[in-house]
Order: sequence, then C-alpha cells, then structure tokens
Amino acid sequence: MLGNMMSGQLLISGLIEHAEKYHSDAEIVSRTVEGPIHRYTFSEAAKRSRKLANALVKLGLTKGDTVGTLAWNGYRHFELYFGVSGIGCVVNTVNPRLFPEQLTYIINHAENQYLFIDLSFVDLVESLEDELSDVKGFIILTDKDNMPETKLKNVICYEDLISEESEDFDWPEFDENTASSLCYTSGTTGNPKGVLYSHRSTVLHAWIVSSGNVAKVSSSTVILPVVPMFHVNAWGIPYAAAMFGAKLVFPGPKLDGESIHELIESEKPDLLMGVPTVWLGLLQYLSGANKTIDSVDTALVGGAAAPRAMIQEFEEKHNVFLMHGWGMTEMSPLGTATVKTAEMDNMDLEDRYDLQQKQGKAFFGVDMTIADDDGNELPKDGIAFGRLLVKGPTIVERYFKAEESAKDENGWFDTGDVAKIHPEGYMEIVDRSKDVIKSGGEWISSIDLENAAVGHPEVAEACVIGVLHEKWDERPLLLVVKTSDGNPSAEDLLNFLDGKVAKWWLPDDVIFVEDLPHTATGKLLKTNLRDEYKNYLINK
Ligand code: AMP
Repeated sequence: MLGNMMSGQLLISGLIEHAEKYHSDAEIVSRTVEGPIHRYTFSEAAKRSRKLANALVKLGLTKGDTVGTLAWNGYRHFELYFGVSGIGCVVNTVNPRLFPEQLTYIINHAENQYLFIDLSFVDLVESLEDELSDVKGFIILTDKDNMPETKLKNVICYEDLISEESEDFDWPEFDENTASSLCYTSGTTGNPKGVLYSHRSTVLHAWIVSSGNVAKVSSSTVILPVVPMFHVNAWGIPYAAAMFGAKLVFPGPKLDGESIHELIESEKPDLLMGVPTVWLGLLQYLSGANKTIDSVDTALVGGAAAPRAMIQEFEEKHNVFLMHGWGMTEMSPLGTATVKTAEMDNMDLEDRYDLQQKQGKAFFGVDMTIADDDGNELPKDGIAFGRLLVKGPTIVERYFKAEESAKDENGWFDTGDVAKIHPEGYMEIVDRSKDVIKSGGEWISSIDLENAAVGHPEVAEACVIGVLHEKWDERPLLLVVKTSDGNPSAEDLLNFLDGKVAKWWLPDDVIFVEDLPHTATGKLLKTNLRDEYKNYLINK
C-alpha cells in the first residue's frame, strides 16, 4: 500500500524561490574579479537567476543541454547554479587549475554548448578554443565596462546577456531525478570521470550539509566558503544557504591568508569552509600579523586530512572548532563529519584532538562499511582497516556516459580510501588504497606518517611514498619541504617520529626537496614521485 502524501519534486529552482520568499534580505557578498566588493540580497539573486533563465532559453538551450563554467566563487556563478539547473539544463563547473588537456577533455566530454568564464580565465580559454568541439559561444562574467579584448569568437558580456530580459520566469516542473550539475573527479591517472548529480541528490545533500550534525546552517549563519564552486559545488553550500537563508561571503579569486582575513573582519562569518592548504595560509598570516578571527565559531576542513597541529592552533589561538569532514566528488561530496558534541566539551583537549583528527560519523543517508580485498566485511572495532565502501541517495551510481555501474554486486561504491571504523561510529581514514605502503604483508599508512612529520616545527610539508625493498616488498620513504627558517637533519626527523608511530613504520630514509607536486585540488600527487624514487632503497 502506498502512502497518501503529495509527491512534490525536490528541485533546485525551489531553493531560490524559497530564499526569495522567506529570506529575501539575506545577503550575498562577493569579492569580484574586477576588484570591488559586490553585495546584494537573495531577492535580487532570484530575480537575476530568472533573467538568466530567459536569456538561456533565447540562446536555444533546452532540457538536458550542458553549459560549462570556469569561474571563482561569486554572485554571477551563484546565479548560474540556479538559472541553468532551474530550466532543466546541466551546469558543468570546470576546475580551471587542471592541465589544458584535461580541460579540453572535460569540456568536450560534457558537450558544453556555452562556456561562462571569469575574466581571469579568458587567456586560458583562448588557448583551448580551437580544440573545443561543441562550444557555440563564450559568455564573460562581467559588465560592459570591464569587457576585455579577446580573440574568442562569439563572445557575449554576461550583463548584456541578461540586462534586457524579464524578471518573470515560471520555473518548469520536472522529475527530481533530472540531471542538474556535472563535476569531474581530478584523478591522478587516466581521464577525469564525470559525476552527474540530480536535483534530488543535490537538494538532499544540501539538507544533510545544513543539519545539526554537520554545518548547522540557519538564517543566522554567515558562511565563507573558500572551497571553490568549481570543486564539487563548493560542498553544496550555495544550495544549503538558499535553503535556509544564510548569508554567503564569496572570496572571488583571492584565497591568500590576508585577503581571507580581511573578509572575515568586514563580514563576520561564523562558519568557514575549505581545504587544509587554505587554512595553513590563513593561520600563517594570522600568526605573522598577530591577528585573530573573533567572529568565527567553526571551520570545516576536508578534501585531505587535517593535521593535528592545525586543529590545535585553531582551538588554542583562535577559539575555533576545526570540524573535520570527509567526502569525495562521487558523494556530492560530504559523507562524514566530526561535529562538536557535548561529550567533547568535557574532554581533556588532547583526547578531543584525537577525535577531531578522525574524519567523523556518517550522516543519515550515507551507509558505510569496511571490507578486505575479497569483499568480506571487517569488524568496526577501531583496529581493523580495509576498503571503505559507501551507499546512499547522494552517491554516484554510474559515471557520466559510462556503460557499467560504479557499484559492486552488493550495491556498494568503493571509495578508494582505506579506513577504520571505531565502535562508537567514528570513521578514520588510514590512506588511499593506492598510497598505502605494503611492507611485508602489513599495511603502513602514509597519511599517519605525514601527519606526524608535519608536527615537527621545521617541516613545512611532508609526503610519504612506498618504494621497492628487497626484503619487505615496500618500505616508506619520507620527502620533506623544510620551513623557510628550518634546517632539520634526517636523523632529527626520524628521532622526532620515534614513539609517535610503530617502530616498524619509521621511514627508511628522509629526502629533502624544494617543493612537492600537487593535483589541481591541492592533494599530493604521488604517482610521479613513486616512479622517480621507485628504486631508491634498492640502489642505495
Ligand atoms: P575529491 O573527489 O577530489 O574531493 O577527493 C576525494 C578524496 O579526498 C577522498 O577519497 C579522500 O581520499 C580524500 N579526502 C577527502 N577528505 C579527506 C579527509 N578529511 N581526510 C583524508 N582524506 C580526505
């Protein structure tokens, strides 16, 4: 027997309509690429999203068409999130930090009909133009006064595109499972893979992110998402802010510590969101300039493991709770978080940091387990670790245009991460399955070693890779970037690690490097290093 309730569709247009009706004065503040700070309200954002919708229809876009963006976090990008998806088209947020070949691959694979680009990326797109197969025109996200000279053909100024359009537009009703946006994973090998979100998965994810066990978004929240709108939809926060009428502060192209601090001072956010490298920059600036961030209550960190030293510095110097989140493009992206609990308030700080270093508990909607290489589930005892498997309505079923399912025969998606699950439910990432070091049949976590190494005051960044060893198959090798005024020896570092990790985990050697390679989303790129140092111990 079916229930007797209405089956209203969960649509992204419904979010902006709601914001306009109930939170019309809530602000959206943006640092623009052109320079000045722009501010307007959800009411204006909703009107301009409808003008954009009218313009997109005039451009000839119809349901299912894809348009690409290469843009920072800002109000025009925000309008595209709603205007494009609202008419049943798909917004493909392209990460401009990728290599040119990857950018061309993504834009062509997505079959983008138009590209909406910030002024910062005009030169980049000019260099790709000849390779783009489906793009009919380029819309520059600026006004007439700031339009650049460009070789691009069929160029339109965004403000010209929407200025004459009507503010009236009836958002169409359609099936909530309709595709809404498309993000590509920045894999370290092979071509990027597309994850095609639906209206339903996006709205559900926005609810999850806003909930009390995650970011606690309400109409009193002021959010500064430093995480880019081109990286998994800024963790869904633009949708969540519309759902609850939270004030948004967009940092535009300036992501350095000083610029972020300036926005914190002027706009008083209580919630920050970003990857560890961004927080490293902010903390370094605050420490050097002897400043603090009084308005901030919580900083959500994810995308890579947050080092303990960072959790501690936020807490002890700035009274900010660093909430550790974990997820991936395939999960919309959030899967777990370590929310601050009443229990934590009464804990010894060091014990609390132990908890905060874990990636957190799964939310309702994310089912999670760990299994060995043969698919046998492992105990959730905080000791066993294995492949982390997930399922749920905000998790990928199949990659864009792939024939085969992304799930295993039991319906699980293999995250490619290796993790433990503790009895009380906290998940702890041990490593990526391809980065874990297999030494004599046992696994060593490269992440744990890196985190321990960056605790040394003279280490700016650390990377651990598994390299060939005659007896143990693989052994860990530590690569270190020193701080500008530090000069530790290999022996100093090994002594420092001794006692922080099991003795047999201690790296076989330490190599000092000028810098370490990163992927476009700031993760350590270990593939090339593994090739370069593969025979290091054997030849030593
Ligand atoms: P992406 O799809 O680019 O967001 O990358 C997802 C991957 O980043 C995950 O599968 C993890 O390997 C890694 N990751 C994300 N958050 C964390 C975290 N809090 N701690 C450790 N690794 C993380």
